[in-house]
Amino acid sequence: MLYSMLISIALFANPAVHSVSDISQQFSFYMDGRFHRQYLKDDAVDVRNWGSLSELDLSNINLLLLTGGDARIPYDDGARKNISDFLTGGGTVLIMADGTGKSVPVAPFVESYGATLHNKAASKPLKGLNELADQEITFRRGGTLKLDENWSPLIVDQAGRPVLAERPVGAGTLVLGSRGLFGQKPDASDPINDAWVGPMLTARAASKPIDPKRKPRRTWAEDSRMAGPLKIEFHDGTEQFADDIVEVYEEVRPHMLAITGVEPAPGMIQRMLILPTGGGGFSSGVCIAIGAWWGGFPEKRYPMVELISHEAGHSWVLPHPEPLWNEPIATWFGIQVGRRLGMPEAEQTLHRQLRKGRKHDPDFTKMDPMAEGAPRDLIWGKSYFVFEELERKHGPGAMAKYFIAKRKLVPAQRQGYSMDDCVAVWSMATGEDLFPWFRSLAFDVDRSRTDLPMP
Ligand SMILES: [Zn+2]
Repeated sequence: MLYSMLISIALFANPAVHSVSDISQQFSFYMDGRFHRQYLKDDAVDVRNWGSLSELDLSNINLLLLTGGDARIPYDDGARKNISDFLTGGGTVLIMADGTGKSVPVAPFVESYGATLHNKAASKPLKGLNELADQEITFRRGGTLKLDENWSPLIVDQAGRPVLAERPVGAGTLVLGSRGLFGQKPDASDPINDAWVGPMLTARAASKPIDPKRKPRRTWAEDSRMAGPLKIEFHDGTEQFADDIVEVYEEVRPHMLAITGVEPAPGMIQRMLILPTGGGGFSSGVCIAIGAWWGGFPEKRYPMVELISHEAGHSWVLPHPEPLWNEPIATWFGIQVGRRLGMPEAEQTLHRQLRKGRKHDPDFTKMDPMAEGAPRDLIWGKSYFVFEELERKHGPGAMAKYFIAKRKLVPAQRQGYSMDDCVAVWSMATGEDLFPWFRSLAFDVDRSRTDLPMP
């Protein structure tokens, strides 16, 4: 008993699979750890590749996970060669992709191995073959494959067309299948087909031994250059977007200084990562990551102004994130910057959200936005309403007064920052006790619950 427990602990500590989830061709939070959580769990150590695929060190890796990619970032010759060499040397590659009618970047690669992502939808129910014959197959939707004789189908649709298949390449295995066979939710709440996906991949990956003592490391975007104090990080495929995005950041920054009245919190925004996605961005404070073609950039400009202001804004409000409206305030910064740049979309964005909020609370005096289950549109709409009203009553530059006061009154090492604390800072910034006003807007705030000074 004890002996077998020790064995299993040893296995747990040293899984036989080292996998890389690639997010360099197309970033998604799903591939950023969630695929591993859904399918590989204790069986593999997974790291993410953020850099050019051509540069990726696959020597101690035996499983590579790829998606179809985005047409803006084609696979280059170096990437194709690196993946081919990996396969030939015994590695396993899973490609999750569908034919869309337009060319996906991974398509020429699989075509060189005799497979075509067919723009023909698979019809349910799907059926497993060979080792998957007894497995239940869950499928959302997606395309079928056209394959030459080197391939073995593992799953077929109702008409017998392959949806998942594999072929040997040298000592390795190439597995190709529809994205609809795998989970997609960024929170990993949809582990469909987890009974067989993990075992199928780990069994094949085992054909290439790895050294479990040499733990794989994340590969970061390998290129960078300095734009003033900011380090811009990108790889071969995202380099084409870097200059335009830096230009927007440089346009945005002085307005952010004017709106907030302060510099970003000390040590924040040192790096900006260009992400291969149109799906937005994120901020860790020190690093802000920006989706390269967000909102139709570079053809459309306002969405990028708003996104950069938003992600940078998170670094401006630190070390204490704002209560309740930490997200709305970040987008409101973007709206303010857009207004100052004379972009009509800024006003439209503001009024659209105010309208949505008023559907829940027509004059913003009835619903407590801090109550459990408060609708998102109420929280966002009421937040915008509060910022606009504070500016109208205590401006110009009310928000700047607030952040100057916050930096002065709230030490970095303070534990927590509540809405009561926030209203106290607003009161100090405007020289007026604002607790009654916030309560008139149905905020559950109380002066006795904060130890911060009041005017
Ligand atoms: Zn945010």
